Amino acid sequence: MTELTMRQIRQLEHDLLAQRNGVAAEAHDELTRATQQSYAAIAGEVPDFGDQATAASLADYDNALARRHVEAIREIDDALMRIKANRFGRCLECGIAMGYARLRAFPTARRCVACQGLHERTFALGTTPTL
Ligand SMILES: [Zn+2]
Repeated sequence: MTELTMRQIRQLEHDLLAQRNGVAAEAHDELTRATQQSYAAIAGEVPDFGDQATAASLADYDNALARRHVEAIREIDDALMRIKANRFGRCLECGIAMGYARLRAFPTARRCVACQGLHERTFALGTTPTL
């Protein structure tokens, strides 16, 4: 796999920033929606089929979404840091250049396709690698 050109890195940085804005906007919309729903619940507008259960599941739902947004932004920021540190586009495990096509599709990728597959299989099986 060939090294990324400066131009490709700039394009990927642009993609990452656009993605970051998208996630931030989504998180903002979600927060606005959740806040409105909370007010509605407090005002007693939620149907009376177990108000507590409804409120609790809403909170869980919002927490899971918020966690996903925070996680997504963290991954994007990590990738932007790797660009700044000149470490972008190399596989975390084997160190090869990951290639522009993979990064264009998945700019926050930390591993090449082979290492990512191995990583996912290792964790999916819940096995501890024996060294
Ligand atoms: Zn690799």
